[in-house]
Amino acid sequence: MHESLADEPTELGLIERRELGFYDPWRTGPTLAVVGGVHGNEPAGILALRRVLERLHEHRPESFRGRFVGLAGNLAALNHPDRHTRYVEADLNRLCTPGLLASDSEGPDLDEARGLTGALADERDRARGPFVVLDLHTVSSPSPPFIAMSDSLRARAVARHFPLPIFLAFEENLTGLLADYATTELGAVSMIVEGGQHDDPCSVEVLEAVVWTALHAAGILAIGDGPELDTDPREVLARAAGGYARGVFDIRYRCPIGRDGFAIEPGRRAMDKVRRHRTVIARDEAGPIDTPISGRLFMPNRQPARRVGDDGFFIAVEVGRMWLRLSAWLRRRPLVHRAIPALMPGVRRRPGREHDLLVAPEIAAVLRRQIFHLLGYRLIRSTPVEDLSRVRRVWRGVMAVGGAAWRMAAGFFVGGERGALPDERPEDWIVARRTLDIRPENDPG
Ligand SMILES: [Zn+2]
Repeated sequence: MHESLADEPTELGLIERRELGFYDPWRTGPTLAVVGGVHGNEPAGILALRRVLERLHEHRPESFRGRFVGLAGNLAALNHPDRHTRYVEADLNRLCTPGLLASDSEGPDLDEARGLTGALADERDRARGPFVVLDLHTVSSPSPPFIAMSDSLRARAVARHFPLPIFLAFEENLTGLLADYATTELGAVSMIVEGGQHDDPCSVEVLEAVVWTALHAAGILAIGDGPELDTDPREVLARAAGGYARGVFDIRYRCPIGRDGFAIEPGRRAMDKVRRHRTVIARDEAGPIDTPISGRLFMPNRQPARRVGDDGFFIAVEVGRMWLRLSAWLRRRPLVHRAIPALMPGVRRRPGREHDLLVAPEIAAVLRRQIFHLLGYRLIRSTPVEDLSRVRRVWRGVMAVGGAAWRMAAGFFVGGERGALPDERPEDWIVARRTLDIRPENDPG
């Protein structure tokens, strides 16, 4: 059914061009750009893209309406003599910030990031309609496949076609993600898809199913109208995702590697339920490492090469259906967004930025990130999760909200106090509405 990557390490071969291929027979419709191999040790995405491109050119489906393009990510790492190089000097998937890309800094991976974001910008410029970007990856420890995406309503509409678990707020925990650049700078609905473990041949199969499903979700090629496949790709995905299919999780905590000797505890697996201060997740030179919040273990780092500062693990919390529906309802209401600074104590509009809010840190500690997520805001600047027991948190909350409400009332009746609040203090949290929520559907940038 599928060839084993382990048996054919040279299958990938030398990749000379970033563009792996495209299919665009009628020059009309949406654009789907899919990137594989952003990490050099993850060939599965590129192999999956080659399969899809081959089948499209072979079968030439009549009803195909749109442009599909496959791109290779980090050519320098993919073509590196050591086939297991994730990157040459720096992780490409942490370099995609407008500042860094435009800077004078140099490096093989940064050059790759410039080439890749440039290729995506070209696709955006030639797009004739909605623009969707997929970034295909694999992970280091056994894990069901999943989607990580920025929680805009437009991304939700695309993601609902995939029977996979969805993780939100990845981009709040990490800077420089390619997918985040595609959304905030290029206006694309973008998703990271992790297809399974690096060398598991099933990962290629899963990622191929992801691409067919994405063509369907983007409105380019309905699954039934494409080349005949052994199994409906959505079935392939549902089977691989098992009980986690369609679950939605919010990433609430990131534990970076702080010291040498970091290792995930034997037996700990992705999606394990972990309890605040009760579950030992990893160890390093200083001893056991646990978590300040309860939830599910996400992306435990079992890469053979780990460096201080890399992600150690994340904790994600499942989000209920009602919460998601309420969130969609609230964020579609302009009145809600206008009312937030007036109704939420300690929250004020960021001067000069229509869609940004400033949140006083003592309030932020209590309201916490999930309230802003609910309302469709993304954390731009925040302080780490505080390690507080429930009782202390409630007490802090009462004091903070009471204090802020008092200041609001004083400002309203007496004047002065509220007006005297400085424009922006370094300790304030900054939250911003999702760019795709405020952009019209067919504006690709
Ligand atoms: Zn990766």
